[in-house]
Amino acid sequence: MDMGIQGRWALVCAASKGLGKGCAQALVREGVHVVITARGAEALEATAAELRALGTGAQVRTVAGDIATPEGRAAALAACPQVDILVNNAGGPPPGDFRDWDRDAWIRALDANMLTPIELMKAVVDPMMARGWGRVVNITSAAVKAPIDILGLSNGARSGLTGFVAGLARKTVGRGVTINNLLPGPFDTERLRVTMAGAAQKSGRGIEDVAEERRRQNPAGRFGTAEEFGAACAFLCSAHAGFITGQNLLLDGGAYPGTF
Ligand code: NAD
Repeated sequence: MDMGIQGRWALVCAASKGLGKGCAQALVREGVHVVITARGAEALEATAAELRALGTGAQVRTVAGDIATPEGRAAALAACPQVDILVNNAGGPPPGDFRDWDRDAWIRALDANMLTPIELMKAVVDPMMARGWGRVVNITSAAVKAPIDILGLSNGARSGLTGFVAGLARKTVGRGVTINNLLPGPFDTERLRVTMAGAAQKSGRGIEDVAEERRRQNPAGRFGTAEEFGAACAFLCSAHAGFITGQNLLLDGGAYPGTF
């Protein structure tokens, strides 16, 4: 299926690894020019080289910096001739006990996982509407639908973003701009491996033991892949998805047990 987005420009935040990288790969495969960001330049340049090696003719630009800062966002936006597609992403907040989180911990989580995507939408949505076309995909978490107790910072910040998007998405779609959220369940990325390593250490078990148990607990019997995540993102960014907006799409192998 031709996604109909060849030659568009996308800003894909936090994309040197994991889900952001999966989204960038899927978009580059469709001939979309990308600006990818991450904090560390080395992994970012390695990813850019992989994307260029796909040989689709898409331009790949890199911006090293923290997307959760005003400077990081300004540099990312400046590198993109025009943002037709925005994929919002950043690292997730650490797990813990809510009794240990002070105001600074909350502000950091809100900055990265709620206010940064809102700031970036604020920067791009009006020009998108003026041009009559745009796509925004926010990477959030399955925790928005099924909160995970130790991830309270994530549950809170991402739910705030979700509420905001629900209102904005209805204001932009009439002028060709859709805004949707992708909610990952367990995906095989560095973040998941770090979380499992922590759980393994705490319980005195091996990491592969913990991983196998988690795979078994999922109805699909496995973790998702960044490629699968990227494919869903590319479809939401496609020419065919103009009637889909304000949605929260779970990608979790069926782990969420509800009917809706
Ligand atoms: P990952 O650790 O594999 O990759 C994160 C990427 O983001 C890296 O490229 C890193 O350099 C970049 N990054 C992190 N913080 C950044 C910042 N402030 N500025 C710029 N770049 C930054 O993580 P992932 O698994 O791809 O997760 C992506 C998002 O999805 C995270 O918010 C995570 O909490 C969420 N999530 C992931 C899963 C999962 O199973 N992998 C599940 C639920 C939610």
